[in-house]
Amino acid sequence: MKADVVVVGGGPTGMWLACELSLAGVSTVVLEQRRDVDPHSRALTVHPRTVETLALRDAHGPLLAESGRLPSGHFAALDERLDFSCLDTDFPFTLTIPQARTTRLLEQRARGHGAAIRRGHRVIGLADDGDAVRVSAEGPDGRYCMAAEYVVGCDGTRSTVREHAGIPFVGTDFSTIGWLGDVTLADPPSAPVVSVWSRNGAVMCVALPDGQYRFVGNAPEDNRTDWPGEPTFDELRSLVVRVLGTDFGMHTPTWLSRFGDTSRLASTYRKGRVLLAGDAAHQHMPNGGVGLNVGVQDAMNLGWKLAATVSGRAPDGLLDTYHAERHPVGADTIEHTQAQTALMTNFSEQGVALRKLLGGLISECPQLRDALAERLSGLSVRYPPRASAHPLVGQRAPDLRLSEDVSLFGLLTRGDFAVVDFTGGVPAAPGPKLVWHRAALPQERQTWSGIGAALIRPDGYVGWASDESDPTTLARELERAVAATRT
Ligand SMILES: Cc1cc2nc3c(=O)[nH]c(=O)nc-3n(C[C@H](O)[C@H](O)[C@H](O)COP(=O)(O)OP(=O)(O)OC[C@H]3O[C@@H](n4cnc5c(N)ncnc54)[C@H](O)[C@@H]3O)c2cc1C
Repeated sequence: MKADVVVVGGGPTGMWLACELSLAGVSTVVLEQRRDVDPHSRALTVHPRTVETLALRDAHGPLLAESGRLPSGHFAALDERLDFSCLDTDFPFTLTIPQARTTRLLEQRARGHGAAIRRGHRVIGLADDGDAVRVSAEGPDGRYCMAAEYVVGCDGTRSTVREHAGIPFVGTDFSTIGWLGDVTLADPPSAPVVSVWSRNGAVMCVALPDGQYRFVGNAPEDNRTDWPGEPTFDELRSLVVRVLGTDFGMHTPTWLSRFGDTSRLASTYRKGRVLLAGDAAHQHMPNGGVGLNVGVQDAMNLGWKLAATVSGRAPDGLLDTYHAERHPVGADTIEHTQAQTALMTNFSEQGVALRKLLGGLISECPQLRDALAERLSGLSVRYPPRASAHPLVGQRAPDLRLSEDVSLFGLLTRGDFAVVDFTGGVPAAPGPKLVWHRAALPQERQTWSGIGAALIRPDGYVGWASDESDPTTLARELERAVAATRT
């Protein structure tokens, strides 16, 4: 048995990676130990850059159709919410959709593109012999071995792939614990989100699409280093009453759980033919609801690079740029979630003062508020450009309206590179995995005014751009830029 790529773990990260690889024609097998999707959804929030990521492949419709939308987010559950409605995106809101639904929708798409999704198959070991990786697994018919050119561990925080590849997972153990409960309310609040932080503890209550409500919170006694086991319904109720003064008539819990602030980052996202993505690469407290989002964006960054490598099109070093670009994003995620944990779990007078000070600054300084919103939403990610590159290189390209019926994202739906010639004078030279479009300069965007041409990567980031206006010089520059994307 052989596949180009074996993806271990069929959570949202693994499923989106399978979508990307199979779209590019790579033979992809997903080995997932669960026979069905976990019905208990940890994640609910999908952020704007993830919606854009799906929109780059025209895959966002089903999620939008069944999600709730919130035009704001929060940092550390501060009362001063972050306004997402002024973010520079066509999707200036977060989606509320249970992780189980997101995973199912992505699985459906991956299957539709031809990925083999094997449920009930648990990976128990692997060996990278330099030419291929041998994966050992247990399935419904017993143990077996399969070979792959590359293996990607999308198998969560306790990653078997990471362990067998010997990749250190560096960070700190938990020192505080949060709890959650999904319940039905006899007397629900009128607002879709209720969030209260006091010296007694913190509680957030969010309406779920299926009519239930999720309570998440933490209290001073949760700052501890021993694991107390799952919470009971009575514990949940008394904590909620202690902070909110009512239990809203809660009953019929369907899930009660705890989570800690263990924060760890894989020391490398690639070791030989083994790669890591999603929670297998980074673990942190779920503050701000970003983990699933970062995982899907890891997969987006990796998918086209791995597809190009497997098919022999990739220039030297392309696959290593996955670690170079995504490891800093993982580190940043750990930094801001830890900062939020500090703000949320310090129930002393000093903690109150710190929250008041930061909340005041967020209200008074729109720039600070917007910077936090961009950071949480995933829109602020910029990949390190080469020295002397154009300032747009490494930035996410917005969905530029290129003509009446063509927008930039529309050029990228097949996962190709796109050249946009804004001068109209460069001879078009489309090629394999490369689309070419002539357009007038988008007037509404200052940062794009004066651009002669741009090369957009399959994941929607600017790979190359030039201000050159002479068509002959621009054509030469563009030829070099395109040549650098392939062997
Ligand atoms: C309380 C809570 C709330 C959260 N809320 C949000 C939120 O609102 N928004 C957000 O973005 N993130 C949120 N997160 C984080 C989010 O749930 C994770 O970041 C997300 O699940 C990561 O997806 P993944 O696919 O990388 O890993 P996982 O979802 O953990 O998937 C890993 C998969 O690998 C499989 N697997 C594991 N080992 C093996 C093996 N040996 N062989 C085969 N299969 C294997 C597992 O069965 C699983 O299906 C929250 C987390 C918690 C705890």
